[in-house]
Amino acid sequence: MEPLFTPEQLADIHAYHLPYYIRAAVDPFVSLGLLALMLGVLVHPLYRGASAAAAGLERRFGALREAPVLRVVFHAMDRLWGESGWGAAILFALGVDLFIKVLYLPVDVWFSYVLEHRHGLSTYTPGAFAWDLLKGTLLGAAAVVALVIGLYGLARRVRRWWLVLGVPVAVLMLVASALDPYRARLYFDQAPLPAGTLRTRITGLMARADIAFADVVVEKTSVASRRVGAYFAGQGPTRTIVLNDVIVRELSEDEILAAVAHEAGHVNESRWPGRIASSLALLALLFAIDRLLRLAQARAWWGATRFADIRTLPLISLLLFFVIILSSPLSGAFSREREREADRYGLRLTGDPQAFRRMLVKAARVNKMDPEPPRWVVLKGMSHPPIGERIADIPVP
Ligand SMILES: [Zn+2]
Repeated sequence: MEPLFTPEQLADIHAYHLPYYIRAAVDPFVSLGLLALMLGVLVHPLYRGASAAAAGLERRFGALREAPVLRVVFHAMDRLWGESGWGAAILFALGVDLFIKVLYLPVDVWFSYVLEHRHGLSTYTPGAFAWDLLKGTLLGAAAVVALVIGLYGLARRVRRWWLVLGVPVAVLMLVASALDPYRARLYFDQAPLPAGTLRTRITGLMARADIAFADVVVEKTSVASRRVGAYFAGQGPTRTIVLNDVIVRELSEDEILAAVAHEAGHVNESRWPGRIASSLALLALLFAIDRLLRLAQARAWWGATRFADIRTLPLISLLLFFVIILSSPLSGAFSREREREADRYGLRLTGDPQAFRRMLVKAARVNKMDPEPPRWVVLKGMSHPPIGERIADIPVP
């Protein structure tokens, strides 16, 4: 069998991945250091600043409290928070979020713009890149505000808040995957795949797999990236087969069909054990947060004398940091097993191992995947098995 990459390609791939491996090794310590700095030094000044800013806004725009529509909004926020003072809490949370984001900004831009361009993987113009970065930041800020009002607001008002919050959020997590098709459209234009042999063959493949879907769309990711990609978004009636315009251009029909067949393998995997496990894990996490908030109140950490004081937010970040770093090796192992199973399913569905192999080889070349990443990187929580292993696992006749 011909080697996957020429020696030059392999050198390029190693040069591309090395910074990622260094970051994977260093980042946990940097994150921990930043959180320690936040908890040890910055909570007080950030909270003072947020309170002063909120008081300033109140002085200048306090009259808006009585304005026709805003009056309802302000009243609703007071009730959600249990009292006034939510402005300072939101500003504090946004300040913490912004502080971390600004510190990471140079590294993030270097990885997602400079390194990607250096290895010919990105087609972003600086303007489009900045715009998407801003969109991501604003979505993140909206999530922070929702967290502050949702989690802290509820915890202040309801004794068993972690149960009251945990159950609907678990449900929301299920609904969120049904809304998937709409989220991608925030970033890329999509258009239905035109009628033709590819569409006909995908429809036939899905009929054989007995998978209902709403549409096949082409997502124009080439404005940002040269990578090939395909995924299924949504569930049941909203299920959409998404191919990016690069895969439609770069791969043959047989190879695209192999990629769709792999994705179809994910549809039929049993989701309930994972869903139940993550719902239980979420409840356990919220319960742990509850204990932590009570401890912070009892010991008056950072001057918090009230339950669910917003100054405990970085402490919850620290808890999440440990939860994520300890759970990703496990969730990565499960995810890699699901990917292997989806490969096996896809192979059975198309019955065309040659095309399946060519699809993986092309994806590896175009996306510059490392065929043999270091073992510790895989074990730390890689979602897919190394592409070299996936190709070697295909029984080519
Ligand atoms: Zn997959």
